[in-house]
Amino acid sequence: MISLTNMTNRIKVFNLSHDVYCAARGQCSCVSLVKGGKPHATSLTIPAGATLKKLPGALLAVKEIAKAIGSGELKIYHYRTWSKSKTKTETAASKPKRRKSK
Ligand SMILES: [Zn+2]
Repeated sequence: MISLTNMTNRIKVFNLSHDVYCAARGQCSCVSLVKGGKPHATSLTIPAGATLKKLPGALLAVKEIAKAIGSGELKIYHYRTWSKSKTKTETAASKPKRRKSK
């Protein structure tokens, strides 16, 4: 997951086209405005200076978003995914610390 911050003083709107965004995400997030009608791609709106958190990483597949990050208009933050609650890893067990001093 990522978070995006709008570094500009203008609102940013990105179209999340089906072919790009839904494909990258592996699931369709389009909405059909009319029942049984053609699904419309959703859009991502980031107000000026605002940070949107916990966004799907598939957003990076959208060219306009990647471009805005590249130009510094958007600041990206990658969430680290830690496994469960274990903070103490037992690396010492597999790696013998003892060494012969000569
Ligand atoms: Zn879709």
